[in-house]
Amino acid sequence: MSLADIRTRINDAAARARRDPEGITLIAVSKVQPDARVEAVLQEGHRVFGENRVQEAQGKWPGFAERFDGLDLHLIGALQSNKARAAMELFDAIHTLDRPKLARTIARLAQELGQCPDLFIQVDIGDEDQKAGIARDAVDGFVEECRGLDLPVRGLMCIPPVHDDPAPHFEELAAMAARNGLDRLSMGMSGDFEAAIAAGATHVRVGSAIFGPRAYD
Ligand SMILES: *Cc1c(COP(=O)(O)O)cnc(C)c1O
Repeated sequence: MSLADIRTRINDAAARARRDPEGITLIAVSKVQPDARVEAVLQEGHRVFGENRVQEAQGKWPGFAERFDGLDLHLIGALQSNKARAAMELFDAIHTLDRPKLARTIARLAQELGQCPDLFIQVDIGDEDQKAGIARDAVDGFVEECRGLDLPVRGLMCIPPVHDDPAPHFEELAAMAARNGLDRLSMGMSGDFEAAIAAGATHVRVGSAIFGPRAYD
């Protein structure tokens, strides 16, 4: 697959859902990928990337930022409070706000830094004990709490359980966002982004389908 193939599939999925493809942002998930592959995608003109570790991103993106304008970087992995400042300095959006303590830390740092990335609240949509994300029944209260802290919460994010049909989870996340007045939905990965678009995804996070398999060592 290439970037162009993924774009075509996004456009087709949008057409089937009678949606404007302009309303769907493709986040190219570059975690663990060799710089040469990331650079090739930058050379094709793509600027929106996702990383799941602050430290890895700190090592990779300042260098690319010197050579490529208009980068739009999204943190899609778990965020520890002690890395919040670094994350806020590097990323344009954070998709993994998932607990009150982190919300308070980000609110304090936003005052100090005079800026804050766009925030997505991660929801534990499949009620998986080991998974990150705020419990489904705590989402509405947490959105309120974040608004009370003046945080720029823009949307919700989820990762459905691997073995489930993702569609009902995507639909539930869309309903949660709608009832909370949030219009961005970060959902859908290489294996299920078309189903996510059918359910209203505004941000799809696609890694291996663009870059090839990740070679963990
Ligand atoms: C790695 C990752 C992705 C991309 O996964 P692929 O299956 O390679 O598309 C998307 N979202 C999150 C949160 C990830 O950690």
